[in-house]
Parts: sequence; structure tokens; C-alpha cells
Amino acid sequence: MKKQLTQWIEKDKQFCWHPFTRQGEWTAEEHEPLMLVRGEGVWLEDGEGNSYIDGNASIWTNIHGHAHPVLNAVLEEQLDRVAHTSFLGYGHPLAGELAEKLASFFPGTSLQRTFFSDNGSTAIECALKMAIQYRLQSGEPERTEFVAFVDCYHGDTMGAASLGGVDAFFSRFRKFGFPVRFVSSVDELRKLDRLDRVAGVVIEPLVQGVNQVHLWPQGMLAELREFTEAQGIHLILDEVMTGFGRTGSMFACQQEEVVPDFLCLAKGLTGGYLPLAATLTREEIYEAFLGGAENAFYYGHSYTANPLGCAAALASFQIFEDESTLERVAELIPHLSEGLEKLAGGHVHVWQVRQCGMVVGIELRGASGERFERSERIGEKVCLAARKWGLLTRPVLDTIVLLPPLSISFEEIDQCLDAIAQAITEVLHK
Ligand SMILES: *Cc1c(COP(=O)(O)O)cnc(C)c1O
Repeated sequence: MKKQLTQWIEKDKQFCWHPFTRQGEWTAEEHEPLMLVRGEGVWLEDGEGNSYIDGNASIWTNIHGHAHPVLNAVLEEQLDRVAHTSFLGYGHPLAGELAEKLASFFPGTSLQRTFFSDNGSTAIECALKMAIQYRLQSGEPERTEFVAFVDCYHGDTMGAASLGGVDAFFSRFRKFGFPVRFVSSVDELRKLDRLDRVAGVVIEPLVQGVNQVHLWPQGMLAELREFTEAQGIHLILDEVMTGFGRTGSMFACQQEEVVPDFLCLAKGLTGGYLPLAATLTREEIYEAFLGGAENAFYYGHSYTANPLGCAAALASFQIFEDESTLERVAELIPHLSEGLEKLAGGHVHVWQVRQCGMVVGIELRGASGERFERSERIGEKVCLAARKWGLLTRPVLDTIVLLPPLSISFEEIDQCLDAIAQAITEVLHK
């Protein structure tokens, strides 16, 4: 067993390149990366047989737990039929059903049209290109700019990256992308000049995940919708992280009764099983792409509307109904809040706890509220220490992110918070 594990690690270090990773440290002799080999429910097992709670839902994707019997069975059935067929030039039975299901969460026919792609970045990329091409084809060719919010994250492909507000990730590519202006509030947006040049405003509704779980003020989304509508600016919502029950409702925008012009979905769409994404839009926008060849939307990916992904997404919605997932989440949220309050009360270094439904950021600071030096990498150290207590998660800077699968139990939530408390004590109180 140990020998096999050593081989896996050696091959990884020799041949792979990990995302957002300092490869020098990853491949260092003394670094023993965790190799995950199995999952069941909220639990993941490593190459040595240790189990951990998947505290960040495998980078914000997993919804109903790993190896869910219904999802597994549906996928096996679909696999026996066919794994992949082209959506370019052909259709298949599941895509329309899934698009109809997605549209059903919004009033009437408001978001009736779905374009499928592969991941969060492409869902955004696609919305941006649609937004620009729409303007070109509807007599407003001067509207080519976007507005995004400071410190936002919308993905890593070139267009999505030009919206990115995290300088460490994106500043070196800034000059190559779409023209984007950044604001930090609706008031700042109101004060921008040349609003008649803006094609769309992009935002993660209710909470920015990558920005250390930054919460937007209540009512802000509805206010943004009202303002953008009045200005003829499209509202592009990035629900890649907030979608599928994370914030307590199926989609975050439903909490402020907002319907965007474009809605971007990915991560949890397939229950966290497969890479599938969707960009939903209004029929009126779609109609500008009808007509001749010059109006078509020349965009797509080889795995667009992958049947396995669609089958998983439909099964995930079925589980939401069968397991009353949203009703369960409504009970989990106050339990989580209570536990977090206790955690905050017990540690001087817990500077602030930010929670939006099942999305949590626990920001750590020095005892008098001062930020730790970046080079100390306190957040990383705390998450590493939490592993010993059976929790896997990742920080954003010194904010510990807890974003578990929605299938988590009350006891498992307590275990997560205990692990974080133990880890904070180990790293900061010794
Ligand atoms: C993860 C994420 C993305 C990018 O999705 P990928 O599937 O990683 O390309 C975009 N927006 C938000 C809000 C995200 O959390």
C-alpha cells in the first residue's frame, strides 16, 4: 500500500501541473501531497485509508455527497446508452429536458434559452460574447464594455479573466482582455460616466466566494437589477458557486426576486460529478441571433451538452426533490450559525465569521484585529492542521472557507467546526 502510494506521488510530481499551485513547493522532496482515492457521502478517503470530511465540497462542486446511489445508478444507465455525442449538428434527449428544468426556476419564460458548455469560466465567457454580439446585432455597437466588482472572480479563460478583480491572478493579462471597469457598490456604478458604452454588469449575487466570502448588503442585488434595467445594461449573474442550494435557495438571485439577462451556472450543476455548465438567457436576446449566417453565435466546445453531464444534472434535481434537500438545508443553516457563533466566541483570532446559507468564511487575524503577514500563510497552516482532525478545506488568504456538500449532517457540521477550532488553537495559541 505504502509503496503504491509513493509511486502515485512520484508520478504526480514528475508529470502533473496543478492549478493555482506553487509547483516548486508541491514537488519538494518533503511535501507529501494527499492522494484522494475514494468518497462516500461527505467523506473522502486518502491513499493510506484516512477519512476526512470534504469541507469545501471538492472545490465547491459537490452537492449531495460522493458516490450517491441515485447519481451513480443514473450515470451507469446513461453510460450503457452512450457517453458522449456531438451537440453540434445533433440533439439528444436529455439536453432539452435539462434546459426546461433550469428555466422552470424562473418566472414564466424569462430565462427560457440555455446554452451549454463545460465549466464556470466558459459559462461566463459565453455570456460575455453573447452580450457583445447581441449589441452588434441590435443597433448598439458602441456598447462593448463591461463593469465588474472589485475583487471578484469569474474564472480563468481570457474573457472571464478580464473581469477578474484579484490582481495576483490577473494583472499580467489585463491588457489582453475585454475592456472592464471595476466598482465596489451600486452607488459607484451610478456615478460612472459613459454608462451608454456598457454592455453588461457582472456580479456574483449575495456573496463573492473567492473574495474571502464577502457578503453583499441585503437588497443590493435588487437595486442593481433596477438600475441596470433602467440604463439598458444587461445583468450577468455568476451563480457558478452560489447556485444549487448553497445560499439556502436553489439560486441566490431568487432571494431578491431578481431575474438576470444572463445566468451562468456550473460547479454544482451535475451535483459535482461532471464538468457541465449552462448559460441561460432571455428569449428576446436569443432572437437577435436568428436570421442569417452572419447572426449565428459561433461558439462551442467539443463536449457541449455532454449526455453524461446532463443525466447527472437531471438526477441531481431529482435528488433535491426526493431528499427535500432545500428543506434540510433550511434546518442546517441555523445549526451552522450557532456553531460558528461558539467558534467565534472561543477564539480571539477569529476576527469575523461571514455566512451566506451554507457558504462560510472564517477570517483569522491577530488578537487586536491586525492582519497577519501574507508570508506567514496562517490560513494555509490552519487548514493543514485541520486535516489531522479529519477536515479537508482550503483558505482564501487567512479566511478559512467552509462550504460542505449540502448532504452534510448536524454531527458532521459539528465535526468540521471542532476540527477548525483545534487547528486554530494548534497554529495560533501555541
Ligand atoms: C469557480 C468559479 C468560476 C470558474 O469556474 P470553473 O469551473 O473553475 O472554470 C467562476 N465564477 C465563480 C463565482 C466561481 O466560484
